[in-house]
Amino acid sequence: MTEDIQEVFLDATSTDTDAVRKVAALSVQQPHELIQPHALVRKKSARGNAHQRLRIGIMGGTFDPIHNGHLVAASEVAWVYDLDEVIFVPTGRPIFKIDKNVTNAEDRYLMTVIATSSNPQFTVSRVDIDRPGATYTIDTLRDLREEYGPQAELFFITGADAVAEILKWKDAAKMFDLAHFVAVTRPGYSVDVSFLPRDKVDVLEIPALAISSTDVRRRAAMGEPVWYLVPDGVVQYIGKHGLYSEDQE
Ligand code: ATP
Ligand code: MG
Repeated sequence: MTEDIQEVFLDATSTDTDAVRKVAALSVQQPHELIQPHALVRKKSARGNAHQRLRIGIMGGTFDPIHNGHLVAASEVAWVYDLDEVIFVPTGRPIFKIDKNVTNAEDRYLMTVIATSSNPQFTVSRVDIDRPGATYTIDTLRDLREEYGPQAELFFITGADAVAEILKWKDAAKMFDLAHFVAVTRPGYSVDVSFLPRDKVDVLEIPALAISSTDVRRRAAMGEPVWYLVPDGVVQYIGKHGLYSEDQE
């Protein structure tokens, strides 16, 4: 509270109606320009810290559907890197899957919301699904950088299979100016980051979960159980909407 406001509050304990009016006026004169858009919803990190510079993880994926491998990866990076928030960003039209049959964006988005809703550090962004055209990670990073401001530290989380392809991504070199990259281990893939800028990419070993969306889709199509591979709400969403059933193909 500024001295001005304190003074008026002291005055306002009297019956002086002028002072009361002054308090009312001051309370609406909020310094809006000083409030950062995300300061209002600032979360604490998994370790309980609130940083001066927000530390934001970005977990991009097709999430068709989101599974526990994605969630463990995000949770582990959040813990080790002391992140304040991890934003899950379902792709719009994934450029490397353009010729494949990908479930519509709204279903993938909703499953991602359901899967992340119980974790106060996890949020979901629509930037990629609302942007027309194919999805490129450089656009995701630019949009989120703009949203969170120049001070935020961005950590892009990517699995071992995806990191191997990184140099084929559009404007790959520029991506490293916008975010730090964390390559997480994944069963069945080896992680080689020797061809990437050393100070911009780390490798993090995470609890191994041999789960892939491809396998979850195959299981659902065959009527095999997907319980405990994906969160309960996602099992129910798949069932309710008949996703991945053979007659849907
Ligand atoms: P699909 O089989 O359809 O390609 P996927 O399981 O690979 O699905 P994606 O949405 O393609 O999931 O992956 C998003 C990101 O999550 C990628 O960076 C990927 O490497 C990573 N990832 C996916 N599954 C795991 C897992 N089990 N462990 C660690 N990282 C994973
Ligand atoms: Mg994949």
